[in-house]
Amino acid sequence: MTPVWLQRSELVDIWEKVQSGTRLSDADCLRLFQSNDLPAIGYMANHVRERRHGNVAYYILNRHINYSNICILDCDFCAFYRRRREPGAYEFTIEEMVAKAREALQLGITEIHIVGGLHPSFKWDYYVTMLRELKKLDPRLHLKAFTAIEILHLSWVGKRSVTETLAALKEAGLGSLTGGGAEIFHPEVRKVICHAKESAEEWLDVHRTWHRMGGRSTCTMLIGHVERPEHRVDHLRRLRELQDETGGFTAFVPLAFHPANTKLAHLPGPSGADLLKTLAIARLYLDNVDHIKAYWILMGIKLAQVALGHGVDDIDGTVMEEKIYHMAGATTPQMIPQQELVRAIREAGREPVQRDSLYRPVTSLPGPAHEASAGASQIIRSSSAVYAGAGNEGGAA
Ligand code: SF4
Repeated sequence: MTPVWLQRSELVDIWEKVQSGTRLSDADCLRLFQSNDLPAIGYMANHVRERRHGNVAYYILNRHINYSNICILDCDFCAFYRRRREPGAYEFTIEEMVAKAREALQLGITEIHIVGGLHPSFKWDYYVTMLRELKKLDPRLHLKAFTAIEILHLSWVGKRSVTETLAALKEAGLGSLTGGGAEIFHPEVRKVICHAKESAEEWLDVHRTWHRMGGRSTCTMLIGHVERPEHRVDHLRRLRELQDETGGFTAFVPLAFHPANTKLAHLPGPSGADLLKTLAIARLYLDNVDHIKAYWILMGIKLAQVALGHGVDDIDGTVMEEKIYHMAGATTPQMIPQQELVRAIREAGREPVQRDSLYRPVTSLPGPAHEASAGASQIIRSSSAVYAGAGNEGGAA
């Protein structure tokens, strides 16, 4: 049944394809990006989202750790990196990372998300020991770590092929790869915003290699800088093609460019409408990617709630400490308690489901390593107390 207002939309032919489950073409995708009919695009995406996931919306209890912001590159869109002796440069010891992880485990987290800059002098052992020591805290803890460019860097540092690098990291405890670093694949854009970074082919090859080893990863697209709709279509097409080949992506996450403190600070960044439209188009075009994530830390929990009606089925997690977007001027909190995630999802009319890193529902809380977890309500209460304290200390909440 097509609503009368949608029958009058310029996009009604795409709606017919969506209803029949016909794959959208690149031309369809371009028309969607060129259209400002957000109600129609959101409606269509919501239809697909509910067909696939019903009323469920996922979240995860996780903690981010950015081990260092010292980087040998200088991507123009990045506010996170520092040179070694520059003010604001930092690096965590493995002991510091383990302490952060141990504290977070007491709150019931199931995942640690680890990325950092391309450090000029950390040795191979730093990365492998980091994974091993974190995994020792609890073998069930999922370590989602490293972008494709970090893998290439580690391959160079460790004098190993990409396959050998990934195999060694997996043996040390790597659970899945993060999707960062994809930015916009098209070389016209890459040479403006990240000319020294890996090429699209290299990014895709790292993920292809990991998927062929049985690994899973997420994929991303950085929006709201110098890219045009054609570049976004090209980017999504390459992701869809790799997913057709390997099936290894668990989720797609559009990342909003934050201009403050970058060399591209004169650009406005994406609007809320653009973010919603991109999430919705991803749901429609990436028909082979199960999950579309609204990463609340970069768009705010309020817009993430709205996104749950625009094709999104996941709003990420508790996060706890985020540096990459906050060094670029993000004003969102750096953490959110579990009960606020649950409330945000319920207020948006969805049914919250806590997931693990591979989108399996977490039906029981972790055991011995999480001694605070006598029950769900206890975890919710204790995490609330600790988060509130940390938030006040950091001035973020
Ligand atoms: S985006 Fe990554 S690789 Fe580029 S400068 Fe920032 S930290 Fe370094």
